[in-house]
Amino acid sequence: MIRAAFPGSFDPPTFGHIDIIERSRSVFDELVVVIAENKQKHYLFSAKERLDMMTEMVKEWKNVSVALCDRLIVDLLSRLNINVMVRGVRNVTDFSYESELSMMNKALSPGIETIFMMTRPEYLVLRSSSVRELAAFNGDLSALVPPVVAGALHKKYGNL
Ligand code: ADP
Repeated sequence: MIRAAFPGSFDPPTFGHIDIIERSRSVFDELVVVIAENKQKHYLFSAKERLDMMTEMVKEWKNVSVALCDRLIVDLLSRLNINVMVRGVRNVTDFSYESELSMMNKALSPGIETIFMMTRPEYLVLRSSSVRELAAFNGDLSALVPPVVAGALHKKYGNL
């Protein structure tokens, strides 16, 4: 039985994240999506808002759960007894950043393995920051995020 975690900011969650979650949950027996709360970072959505959106998005999948983390991700994983971490990769820039991060995590927690999963071509240029920018200009978000997230974004930017 292999349990894996998929950590990220998810500010907000997108179809790119959902695709990685859907594919990971068929590779691993259980998947915990970990919403990071880093005090150094400024988020558009609070941790609770990101948790609620993600919970709504994965509610049909019985082997997927969602957790919040305000400490080092590897510390939470050790506490939960999870030793596989999934990260999504879109391009070489992501890979370069992700490989450094995975080496740092390896030094901190040698027992945890990072597994990279390539994005689908249709989500190659989909990132949370572009979604936020488009929402600020009241753009059409329907191909990028599910309705629950589009609604929350439009409300945040006063588009409704
Ligand atoms: P970060 O923790 O770097 O802020 P994000 O919340 O943006 O990360 O994303 C969490 C994870 O999902 C990261 O591994 C990121 O590379 C991955 N990811 C983000 N967007 C996509 C996408 N469109 N396709 C595949 N993976 C993605």
